[in-house]
Amino acid sequence: MPTSNLTILRTYALKEPTALPKSILFTHTESSLAIHDGFPKSMFHFLLLPRIIPPLEANELNSLKTLLNSDRAHAKQVISALNEDAKSVRKDIEEEMVKRYGFKWEIWIGFHAMTRLEPKLYEALLKEDIACFHCGSTMKNLPALKSHLQDEWEMISAREKAKIKKKRKMELSAIDVIQGPDNKKTRA
Ligand SMILES: [Zn+2]
Repeated sequence: MPTSNLTILRTYALKEPTALPKSILFTHTESSLAIHDGFPKSMFHFLLLPRIIPPLEANELNSLKTLLNSDRAHAKQVISALNEDAKSVRKDIEEEMVKRYGFKWEIWIGFHAMTRLEPKLYEALLKEDIACFHCGSTMKNLPALKSHLQDEWEMISAREKAKIKKKRKMELSAIDVIQGPDNKKTRA
């Protein structure tokens, strides 16, 4: 993550969450805030930041590495709290998926590992082809991958909707069986 982005995230983490606009803040707890990713890679893409509240210091929270090298009790406290809050954000996302699309799909949770401070760690990774995580086909660039993922999502969405429809049909015919064919006209 570019250093300037880190600086912005640090100012968010220092702030009283309710002071942040809704376009930035998704939700918050005593120990963390979930913000909308500035460059979303999926329909639901949030960043969970530990809040910088004493005894925690901004320097400890620069990266996972600085946190793990800092006070052990602090590190444990931060990571356990993030784990709990991530579970709760996952639940919120799943509810939103069902509300908006009628079904839910896989959610990935992980640490933002790449920083410009350690370019050697991801240099090799960036030289590799971009591949779709569903089918493994390789793409020339990110826009191509994005459009491929959109197509795939529409296929998945259509399949899930068909499944729900089929399930409902089966439930209705089960009602038929219970009521007997003569009662058919009683249901709309
Ligand atoms: Zn694919």
